[in-house]
Amino acid sequence: MGRVNTGGGWRAVLYTFKKARQAGGLWALWKAMRSKNACKTCAVGMGGQSGGMVNEAGHFPEVCKKSFQAMVADMQGAVKPTFFETYSLPQLRMFTPYQLEHSGRLVQPVVLEKGSQHYRPIEWADAMARIAKKLRATQPDQTFFYFSGRSSNEAGFLLQLVARLYGTNHVNNCSFYCHQASGVGLTSVIGSGAGTVTLDDMEHADMVFLLGGNPASNHPRLMRTLMMVRRRGGKVVSINPITETGTVNFSVPSDPWALFFGAEIAGTNVQPHVGGDLALVYGMMKRLFELHRADLLKPSPRQSGSLQADPIVDEEFLLQHADGWPALAARLESLGWDEIVEKSGVSKSQIDDITAQYADSKRAIFAWTMGVTHQLHGAATVQAIAQLALMRRMVGKPGAGLQPIRGHSNIQGMGTVGVTPTLKKAIFERLESHFGVKLPTTKGYDTLECLDAADEGKMRFALCLGGNLYGASPEAAYAKRAMEKIDTVVYMSTSLNTGHAWGTGAEETIILPVLARDEEPEPSTQESMFSYIRLSDGGKPRHVGPRSEVEIIADLAIRLLGDNGTSPVNWREMSHTSTIRQAIAKIVPGLEEIASIDRTKKEFSIPGRAIDKPSFPTADGKAHLFTHDLPAVPEGMQLMTIRSEGQFNTVVYEEEDLYRNQTRRDIVLMHPDDIRRLGLTAGGKCRIASSVGEMRGQIVSAFDQIRPGNVAMYYPESNVLVPKAADPLSRTPAYKRIAVTVAADTNGLPIAMPVPEVVGAGTPRDSMNACAG
Ligand code: SF4
Repeated sequence: MGRVNTGGGWRAVLYTFKKARQAGGLWALWKAMRSKNACKTCAVGMGGQSGGMVNEAGHFPEVCKKSFQAMVADMQGAVKPTFFETYSLPQLRMFTPYQLEHSGRLVQPVVLEKGSQHYRPIEWADAMARIAKKLRATQPDQTFFYFSGRSSNEAGFLLQLVARLYGTNHVNNCSFYCHQASGVGLTSVIGSGAGTVTLDDMEHADMVFLLGGNPASNHPRLMRTLMMVRRRGGKVVSINPITETGTVNFSVPSDPWALFFGAEIAGTNVQPHVGGDLALVYGMMKRLFELHRADLLKPSPRQSGSLQADPIVDEEFLLQHADGWPALAARLESLGWDEIVEKSGVSKSQIDDITAQYADSKRAIFAWTMGVTHQLHGAATVQAIAQLALMRRMVGKPGAGLQPIRGHSNIQGMGTVGVTPTLKKAIFERLESHFGVKLPTTKGYDTLECLDAADEGKMRFALCLGGNLYGASPEAAYAKRAMEKIDTVVYMSTSLNTGHAWGTGAEETIILPVLARDEEPEPSTQESMFSYIRLSDGGKPRHVGPRSEVEIIADLAIRLLGDNGTSPVNWREMSHTSTIRQAIAKIVPGLEEIASIDRTKKEFSIPGRAIDKPSFPTADGKAHLFTHDLPAVPEGMQLMTIRSEGQFNTVVYEEEDLYRNQTRRDIVLMHPDDIRRLGLTAGGKCRIASSVGEMRGQIVSAFDQIRPGNVAMYYPESNVLVPKAADPLSRTPAYKRIAVTVAADTNGLPIAMPVPEVVGAGTPRDSMNACAG
C-alpha cells in the first residue's frame, strides 16, 4: 500500500463501491443513505427531512465513509441461528471488536445464565418478564441505567422517566466518557454546555482553532466546512500531538477540485505534549495580553467599535460582561514564559505566531474534541479555551464562538432531554407537574460512580440502552470485575460488541435485539452538536425479530409500573413517539417546536444555543472567568489512546487506519527517535505497561507524525492500560497522558485470534428471508 498523504479522495470513493457490494449493491446502499433519517454516526449531523447526505446548510452530497460504514453494518445479515451454540463465552472473548461487529445483526433475545458458557435464545416475553421480575425484587438505588448517544430523544426521555419513576436517579449517558468536560467547563464559564455557533458560522469563520482532534477520520464532513474556511481566505490552526494526515490535507470527495488536487486544511500545525493544551492556551492568553498592552502604548491603539480592528483584548467587554477579569489578568502577568514553554511543549516563537494570527482574526471559532477532554484537567482546559475566546469577544457576537466536536449522533440530545443523573430544575419541576408524579431526590451516580458502586457489590441490576459500557470504560480489568458483580445486566443492541463477551452479570446477562434508527416504525428525533433537531422517518425493518427501543421501554414500564389506572403515566400511549414528543415539548425548555415536528416536518435550531449577544445564560448574565495552575509534565513515555479511521467509538468497522498508514490494531505508534532510544525495533514486538495493566505482543510501529516522548494505541483495546482516574471537575476519565513503560517483548506472542464465521451481508430482502424462518 502506498503511503497515504491526504484524507478522503479516490480511496474514499472506491471504498464506497466496496461497501455498496457488501450492502447488496449500489442502489440498495444509495436508497438507504438517502432515506429521510439522520445519519447514525457522528454528531456533526446529516440527513433528516432533507434526505441523507445533506448537511444543516443544505449542502449535497456530503459523502462520508463513516456514515457508509454504520449503514452497511446495519444492512448485514442476521447472526446465524447456530452462532451462540457454536461459540462459547471464552471463544467470544477471543473475538476482536471487528469480528464481533461483523458476526451479524442480532434478531432474537438471548440470555447467558450463571454456570453456562453459552448465550441461548429466549422468547421476548420471557426476556421482558425476567427483567421486570429482577427490578421488582431490587432496591431502585441498587440499579443503574446507561444510555449511548445513538438512541433517539424519544427513547432517551422515556427510559430516564421509567428509571426515575421506578425510583433511581442513577441515569447517565456515554458523554461521561467523552465530552462531559466540555459541558462542565463551558457551563461554568458561559452558563451553557452546548456549542455557541452554527454550522454556517463555522463555514464563514475567518479562523478555526482545532484542538486535540482528528475530524478527517472521526467527523469527515467537517472537512468540507474547514476547506470552505480556507477557500474564503480564513485560517485553520490544528493543535495536536499527532500531525494527522487528513487535517493537513484532505481530498473532499464531493468537490471536484479538492478530489483531484487535495485541499490544504490546517495551515499551521502545533504539536504540544499530550495534555500540554492548558499551558499552551495560557501561553496564548498571556501573549495576547502582552500584544494588547503594547498596542495601548501606540499613538492610535485599536479601539472597541472603531473602523480599525477591534482591541486585541476587549477589556471593556470583559469588565462589563464577565466576572473575574482582574484576577485572570493578574495570573497572566505573573505566569512565567519558561513554565508555559516547558509545560506546553511548544516554543515561545510558535505561541507568538499563532497568537498573532488570532489577534488579527475577526470571527474565530475554537473547536475541540477528546484530545482536550480526555485529560485529568479536561474541564479546566475547556474553561481556559472559553476564556481565550472571551478575551477577544469571540463569544457574544455573531459568527464566532466555541464548539465542542461531539461524538455520537444524538449524544447532545440525550443530555437535552434529561438523560443525566441530576435533572435541570425546570425539567424536574415540569416532569412532576406534567405527569402528576413525585420524582426521587436521591443522588444520581455518573457512569464511573455506577461502576464503582458495582465493584463494591452495591449494584444488582444494570440496563444499557445501546453502547458498550465495558469496552468504553477505563481500566478494563476493573470494568469487567465491576460488571461481574452485578446480578443482571441487560443490553439493548443491534449487533455484538466486546461488552456482551466481557461485561457479563453474575446471575444473568440478557441481550435484547433492537431496530436501527432507519428501521423504526415511527418517526424519531435527534440533535446535532450544533443544537439542530432533525426528524428521522424510520423505515422498514431489515430483519424479523428486533423491536423498537421505545416499544421495549414502554413494555417494561407497564410490567414494572403498572398499566392504565395503576400508573399516573399512560405507558401504552407513551409507546408512540408522537406522544413522547408532546411531553418533551412541554417539559424541556427550548424544545416546544418538537411537538408538531412530525406534522410540519420543520426541523429547527434550539433557540438560545447560538450566543451572538454579550448576554450569557448564567444566573447574573455574565461570563465567569477562572484562574488555573498548570499541570507539571509527567516523567517518562505518555500514552494517548486514539481511534482509527476504520472505527467509530468502540465499534471497529475496518482493521486498517488508512490515513495513518496502519493495517492492524495491535500496535504501538512511536516516533522513530523513541524507538531507537528505547532499543526497540520497528515491526518487532513490545510489552507496554501502565500502573493498571500490561499488554504483550504488541507491534512497534514507526510513526514520525507523533511528538517524541508519546505513544499512541487504539481505543478500546488499550483501555487495559487506562487508569480510572478522572478529571475532578467533570469526572471524565483521562484516556490520554498515561505514564507507560515500553520494552522489547522477546517472548511475547501475538494473541492468536480465532476467526469466526463472518456473516456475509445480503440485500435487505435476503436478510429478511434469512431470519424469517
Ligand atoms: S460527518 Fe458525521 S454526521 Fe456527517 S455523514 Fe459523516 S458520520 Fe454522518
